[in-house]
Amino acid sequence: AKDAGRGCFAYFSEDLTLAARERIALESRLRRAIEQQELRVFYQPQVDIASGRIVGAEALVRWEDPVEGLIPPIRFIPVAEETGLILAVGEWVLRETCRQGRQWLDEGLPPITLAVNVSPHQFRRSDICGLVATVVAETGFPSNQLEMEITESGLMANQDNAADILNCLRGQGIRLAIDDFGTGYSSLAYLKHFPLDLLKIDKSFIDDIPDLQDDMEIAATIIAMGHILGFKVLAEGVETPEQLAFLQEKGCDMYQGYFKSRPVPAAEFAGLLRGQSGY
Ligand code: C2E
Ligand code: CA
Ligand code: CA
Ligand code: CA
Repeated sequence: AKDAGRGCFAYFSEDLTLAARERIALESRLRRAIEQQELRVFYQPQVDIASGRIVGAEALVRWEDPVEGLIPPIRFIPVAEETGLILAVGEWVLRETCRQGRQWLDEGLPPITLAVNVSPHQFRRSDICGLVATVVAETGFPSNQLEMEITESGLMANQDNAADILNCLRGQGIRLAIDDFGTGYSSLAYLKHFPLDLLKIDKSFIDDIPDLQDDMEIAATIIAMGHILGFKVLAEGVETPEQLAFLQEKGCDMYQGYFKSRPVPAAEFAGLLRGQSGY
């Protein structure tokens, strides 16, 4: 069997597991979806806790399949990450978000920060700094309103180049956030070497507030230490008034979560922004 298989691809592909075949099928469907413009960006408000106002939004990708309807990122981002297709997805999301952000400014909406996710693969394997420079120049979206979210684990997986990449982005005036903070075994002491603006406390630490004393202490500690290091702190996944009250008491700067709004299509987000008193 070993000899028969040597150099023979078909032999091995018959052996592919169902899961592997499904992954390959999904990859080619996703490739086509990008070409057919089936990806969408939804926007979730980021709220300043002191004023209650929307000061930013996170751009979150969805796939609008003509048959299946809206497919959430959990169903295709992991495969895209494994196959490298995430580079095309990530570039599309960045360009679309900057285009939309420029359009909102041109329509007279108040300036807000737009945050785009950078996958670990994108952070490690592509010239993300060069791409951002190109897209900002192409779209005319102000770089100081663009934030790149790098996961804590993505940062840890690329310790050799992380500082160079972050400094390059910072050099263009891009804001930098650490996503899913608390899940990736880094320490705040390690993060202080990077030019970061924002720590996003992972939703898992917020979910069980106010029931779990441990989680409350962890969240409070991240907020306090983040501030000592000069970072703003945002809590993810805030769903209840109790959670928000706790975060406010601990001096957390911003939050994101269903308590304010789920991620919504661009037009709906623009409505939320227009509806804020004072504009
Ligand atoms: P993430 O970057 O941590 O994004 C936050 C996720 O938490 C979003 O899920 C959001 O809808 C959800 N969320 C926000 N507030 C709440 C809440 O109060 N309760 C609950 N239960 N969930 C909340 P979503 O949009 O399904 O995205 C899941 C993940 O997919 C993201 O996690 C991110 O890792 C990835 N992702 C989404 N868009 C992109 C993208 O454009 N590029 C990359 N590389 N990854 C993306
Ligand atoms: Ca994120
Ligand atoms: Ca997150
Ligand atoms: Ca939990």
